[in-house]
Amino acid sequence: MCVSLGDGVSLLVNAGYGGSNCLFIEDDRQVLVETGGGRALSEIKPESVDLIINTHRHIDHVKGNGLFPRAKVCVHSRERASMDDVALVAASGGWSHLMEGGFQDHMDEFPVDPTLLYTQRPVHGTLADGQVIDCGKTRMEILHTPGHTAGHCSVFLPEEEILFTGDICLTAVGPNYADPDADIDDLMASIDRLIALKPRAMVTSHSKKVCNGSSAEVLAEFRGRIFQREERILDAIKEHPSDIHSLASQRLIYPKHPTRFVLFWEKCMIEKHLVRLEKAGMVKGSEEGLWYAA
Ligand SMILES: [Zn+2]
Ligand SMILES: [Zn+2]
Repeated sequence: MCVSLGDGVSLLVNAGYGGSNCLFIEDDRQVLVETGGGRALSEIKPESVDLIINTHRHIDHVKGNGLFPRAKVCVHSRERASMDDVALVAASGGWSHLMEGGFQDHMDEFPVDPTLLYTQRPVHGTLADGQVIDCGKTRMEILHTPGHTAGHCSVFLPEEEILFTGDICLTAVGPNYADPDADIDDLMASIDRLIALKPRAMVTSHSKKVCNGSSAEVLAEFRGRIFQREERILDAIKEHPSDIHSLASQRLIYPKHPTRFVLFWEKCMIEKHLVRLEKAGMVKGSEEGLWYAA
């Protein structure tokens, strides 16, 4: 499905699981933001794309990069080193200390065809905060919005007042900060920065909706979920000193754990909250891995 957002600017909405929406600028220079659109990408002639921008390195956003033979691929410098790193793409950073067995044993539950993880994806250039990409009529501004990953970027079209927020995803299950390079405080600061923009239209890599006019409220609610999760974790520890596994089993972040990867992401995010709460002097951990209210 293709949704027009303005003259020469459209959102290709991904229908399946394990992919991403893509922003397409049809101009003197044809620019595609993300390539995880699956069948939605069939709307584009492969030879016509000049530039691909990936908001970050996750497989659901980059998996179609190879479909556009002429396109130069750009990603933020803090992502670039790991674009081809299978272990990081699979978010296996903390698997060995949080989960039993190897993540490779559960790849049948991974949301993306695992063979795609082993595809080499060249990167031709890097993105930096404030960089302006001139497409012809349309100008595109890169906003470095870390938190989901260290190099995550959003894209703003200042004349059209269109904002593409990448994996600041605004879906019912977000936000996600499970990546080894994710950071809760960075994510909150990035959302604050986007709140101040007040675009006419806001779209994301995963939400099917176009947010018209109410972006500040929608983003503030999304940001507020981080505090709600932290409250739930703190309340659970106050009620009962717990280790990370028993906290995760209480589903304080995700209402369900349909795959082991979702359980893993829950544990990664709880761990980041515990570090944050410990820094604030609100919890303390024991050598046996139990967490107590301080
Ligand atoms: Zn992501
Ligand atoms: Zn994503």
